[in-house]
Amino acid sequence: MHSEYANQNIYIESLGGAGTVTGSKHLLRTPEGNILIDCGLFQGLKALREKNWEPLPFNPAEINAVILTHAHLDHCGYLPILFKDGYRGPVYMTETTKDLTILILKDSARIQEEDAFHANKHHYSKHKPAKPLYTTEDVEACIPYFKTVGTGVSHRLSANISFRYFPAGHIPGASSAEVTCFGKTIFFSGDIGRYHAGLLADPQHVSTADFVVMEATYGDRTHPAGDASEALAYMINDTVFKKGNILIPCFAVGRAQEVIHMLYKLKQQKAIPAELPIYLDSPMAAAAGKVVLNHSEELKITKEECRAMFNGIQINEDYRGTEKIIDTKGSKIILAGSGMLTGGRALAYLEHYIGNSRNTILLIGFQAEGTRGRSLLNGAKELKFHGKFYSVEARVEEIRGMSAHADQKELRYWINGFVPRPERVYLVHGEPCSLETLRVKIKDETGTPVKILQEDHKEFLFAISEEPAAAVVHEQHHNK
Ligand SMILES: [Zn+2]
Repeated sequence: MHSEYANQNIYIESLGGAGTVTGSKHLLRTPEGNILIDCGLFQGLKALREKNWEPLPFNPAEINAVILTHAHLDHCGYLPILFKDGYRGPVYMTETTKDLTILILKDSARIQEEDAFHANKHHYSKHKPAKPLYTTEDVEACIPYFKTVGTGVSHRLSANISFRYFPAGHIPGASSAEVTCFGKTIFFSGDIGRYHAGLLADPQHVSTADFVVMEATYGDRTHPAGDASEALAYMINDTVFKKGNILIPCFAVGRAQEVIHMLYKLKQQKAIPAELPIYLDSPMAAAAGKVVLNHSEELKITKEECRAMFNGIQINEDYRGTEKIIDTKGSKIILAGSGMLTGGRALAYLEHYIGNSRNTILLIGFQAEGTRGRSLLNGAKELKFHGKFYSVEARVEEIRGMSAHADQKELRYWINGFVPRPERVYLVHGEPCSLETLRVKIKDETGTPVKILQEDHKEFLFAISEEPAAAVVHEQHHNK
């Protein structure tokens, strides 16, 4: 059945998200077409962000299908550019991911349009005039190509290639993708979430795969043992005692919901003051909440509980509302994007709160190199934004246990679930130290060959044999 392709090779090539945590784009090159797994934006360091403006080293028109793992910008944010550059094929995703991706892409376009507008108005861009990477219209143009595929359902892409989604935890809708290609399986982890999270299901996967391409964000770190919500309550109460405010920079889609759930629980347990106002300041937060509520069957809590937790917070959609919240007297908790302080409403609060030691800036998600969030974690004494330097007087704290990413222990648990061992494991989505630490750990523990994928390098996976390999056993998975 494969004879016409016999002895031809299958390759994988990372166009981003290799050796770094952003810009995820992994291209599977096969004789039956080229499949792009994720299509993310580079974020963080300027040198990385500038790559978003460079043409891909591969002609987008020669890609046949895109498979998205989840709605985070560093996995979907490059889609409008891919379409601008000539791609016209399907973009597969789960239903929840579709709803969230549309929100996130539109928000991304809006932020870029606003940033370009402000840069031009206040003349703080080198580029004259400053231009957005893409516009709302560019986002609208790619939405008709979004196709949904249910979790666990095998979807055929061509005669010898199909794929299936498995829940990955991480954020609502997030999935790993198992690609069956000429009789072999390549399992793409996407971003792997936490085990035993409050809101999201545990990551799941098939028990066998020939090749695994896995993320390594926290490959060199273990989240501290102990209850993250206890640490959160302590930080909140301490700040309230000092009459300060708590700013939690986070993605309005994804992490915010897990934090809102934790805060709802803390109020119920009377671990933090019941009257303490919680604001979620993001124009898309209301819509994201609705998406999560609509897909509440994916969550560990009931729809009623989900509704109750959203009722406990005040959502601000209006730019003037931000000023009003800042002017409101008394302590408050504010959740605002972006999660790494690279832009968005969080900066408006930062401007007011960063100079006062009574306030707390609470970092909960991964902070990539080159972001203001990482600078704060590294103990920066001043921070530059909106074209000015601000002295850091506020207390900066991190609660790593609230991260959306599995730590090293959980990543090892995840990979050890593949029995027999995969032929080879490829590591992506990590900074060099995380990748190398996890590589050594997995290799020593399992004896499996582990390679760190290099960006823009064509990596040989396997040669197609005359005869189809033994049929893939589709019943062997942990999916319910
Ligand atoms: Zn993610």
